[in-house]
Amino acid sequence: MRPRLEILEEMGLSPVWVLRQKKSPPVSARAAETGGSREEQIQRMQWPELKATVKDCTACGLRAGCTQTVFGVGDEKADWLLVGEAPGAEEDRLGEPFVGQAGKLLDNMLASLGLARDRNVYIANVLKCRPPGNRNPEPIEVATCSPYLRRQIELVQPRLIVAMGRFAVQTLLNTDATIGSLRGKVHAYHRVPLVVTYHPAYLLRNLPDKSKAWADLVFARKTIG
Ligand code: URA
Repeated sequence: MRPRLEILEEMGLSPVWVLRQKKSPPVSARAAETGGSREEQIQRMQWPELKATVKDCTACGLRAGCTQTVFGVGDEKADWLLVGEAPGAEEDRLGEPFVGQAGKLLDNMLASLGLARDRNVYIANVLKCRPPGNRNPEPIEVATCSPYLRRQIELVQPRLIVAMGRFAVQTLLNTDATIGSLRGKVHAYHRVPLVVTYHPAYLLRNLPDKSKAWADLVFARKTIG
């Protein structure tokens, strides 16, 4: 038998309009259907939806200038949650946090504690997109992106957060105080104990402060018990 389309064409009944398959709505649209503000929707998401929403996010201008979003990496049920600032060039290329020089230093410091990024450790950044030329995050970018970090922390339910560097500290503790003045104390983020340390990229430029960062991690380990 001849194909139906061929017969219709011969009868002058072409082009034939075909109803397209209705696609399921994107995850973020599905969340929107359940209502509430953007923050409230993010606060209800589970891992798959959160990951998909970050991947598709264009809520601030950064996504237009980066290669891909960098969500987070590690054990999703980790006791330790480490927070950095934003992806750099290598992270933007590979889609994973802390894979450049600063990341190598971080991995070495974790290894000295008997930890690894996929073993009882989860690593995330305040921003999921690389700021152009690694410039500092703008307050509006932090405000727009931080609900994702908040939800990551809620889902991991870590026993301890280590905030690395000024932007992680400012975002999680809502303070302008210096790292130096906040080190060596146990703070809290939504009742999760939080300790403060220098950013690994800062340590690469200020080698004498490496020993202070090491002391901070030892303090963190003591805090976690
Ligand atoms: N610096 C950060 O804060 N995060 C990364 O992922 C890499 C470098």
